[in-house]
Amino acid sequence: MPGIKKPFAMRPFGLAALVTAAALAGWVGLRAQQTAPTKEQQAYRKAMEQADQQIAAAENEHSEALQNEEYLTTYIGPRLTGSPEMQKASDWTLSMFHKYGIDAHLETAKIPHAWYRGNDWGELVAPVEHWMTVRSAAWSKATPGPVTGRIVVLSRDAKPADITANPAKFKSAIVLTDEPDGPVKLPENPPNAYNAVIPPPKGVPKAPAMSFRERFENYRKVMAALAQAGAAAILRDSNKPDAMLLTGSASYPAYEPSVLPVAFVSHPDYEWLMRLGKAGHGTFRINLEGKFSQGPGSASITVAQIKGSEHPDEQVIIGGHLDSWDLGEGAVDNGTGAMATLEAARLLKSLGWTPKRTLTFILFTGEEQGGVGVRAFLKNHAKEIDKMDAVLIDDTGTGRIKSISLENFWSTGPLLQQVYRPLQEVFDLDPMSTQYFGSSDHVEFQREGVAAYFAVQDAAHYGYAHHSTDDVFEIVNPEALKQQAALIAAWMWNVSEMPESFPHHPKAAERRPM
Ligand SMILES: [Zn+2]
Repeated sequence: MPGIKKPFAMRPFGLAALVTAAALAGWVGLRAQQTAPTKEQQAYRKAMEQADQQIAAAENEHSEALQNEEYLTTYIGPRLTGSPEMQKASDWTLSMFHKYGIDAHLETAKIPHAWYRGNDWGELVAPVEHWMTVRSAAWSKATPGPVTGRIVVLSRDAKPADITANPAKFKSAIVLTDEPDGPVKLPENPPNAYNAVIPPPKGVPKAPAMSFRERFENYRKVMAALAQAGAAAILRDSNKPDAMLLTGSASYPAYEPSVLPVAFVSHPDYEWLMRLGKAGHGTFRINLEGKFSQGPGSASITVAQIKGSEHPDEQVIIGGHLDSWDLGEGAVDNGTGAMATLEAARLLKSLGWTPKRTLTFILFTGEEQGGVGVRAFLKNHAKEIDKMDAVLIDDTGTGRIKSISLENFWSTGPLLQQVYRPLQEVFDLDPMSTQYFGSSDHVEFQREGVAAYFAVQDAAHYGYAHHSTDDVFEIVNPEALKQQAALIAAWMWNVSEMPESFPHHPKAAERRPM
């Protein structure tokens, strides 16, 4: 929009963007392109451009996003679902919504067990003595004190029969189950090149020999066979650069103790152990002290609302998960998405505008273990689902939001385009994305038929930090965090002011197992 300062505009439109925009029109807005926009649509677009400018300018002038992000990561710290830190984060965010003058409450679900990390350690004891940093996988069973065993390598594609055919080989063994494909490659052109988590924007990736679910099921059966054979523990490869450590869940079903103790070591250490294991020469000692809650644990989501005036029963929802893994500070997975959501609420409230539809802000929990928080919300609000208008989730780190992905809600493309065009103009975004992410809290809304979208962001070291020791406050980009907050606030405002509601899709037939 000429003549208006664009606070978050960073890149001019290039030829590629125009070509992609033209291609996009082919599938989403062909008819809209051919027929001139109605007077109503023109008025809507103009009003939204003005509103979005004001939202962006207000965030630029005064923002609390970074100070909240610092408080969350530094004074509350990492937030495993069900942990005291997660509860503290839920209570603190509730108090912040209240401080901003916004109605908010917690909704609490039960998980079978909370898990508390203990003091994990490990050492190579033969052929040489060498301490190694070992971190337990979350929800891993503890070892019964320090245990020592031969290092045994199991191929990445091993089947349960490979263990049951020769159980003696695995008795009391420390088993390595992740044969590395090769050395971890450092980013060639940081910060965006190391992008292992975000799916490629174009083309169909080569199908793996086993699907993710098949691989997961196979791994679970391999673990059970190893436990049956009397293995001592499983060691896994963090598979990250710079000797960073990774964590993840060892349990299935979620929140139950794993059948064997499972821990991660750094990639360089794993390569060392792998060579010794293959040569049949290594012995390792390991001690994992993680503890489980006696009974079920509590997992809360924070829900805040600004009531709509014309259609109060129709909700526009934005959110991000507040839970995290626990080796770093949970700064970019997903402190940034959660704090952008909190900031968007503060920002919209501070403007004093009255939305047509109700604005709902949700800080989820349990996203990392399969979505217990979003499921609790949908269960608690089952009667409201048919009137839920649209959802946007912010969950890929600290990068600037550069687009919004339609996911698989093709039929809503023309409506989303109307909401998106003013955003694209004010925030200088790429064309609307057709990338399918399918892996965060929006998926459960989609399964209920609600139009639910995902923020597409610059990678900004996300693959590097993801679930690792490096997920810390220092990698947060302050300007991009403000841009995220302003953009999701503006998206929410634009949806709330739309003349029409978003259509629903049919509900998915079956429930996904957790
Ligand atoms: Zn996440």
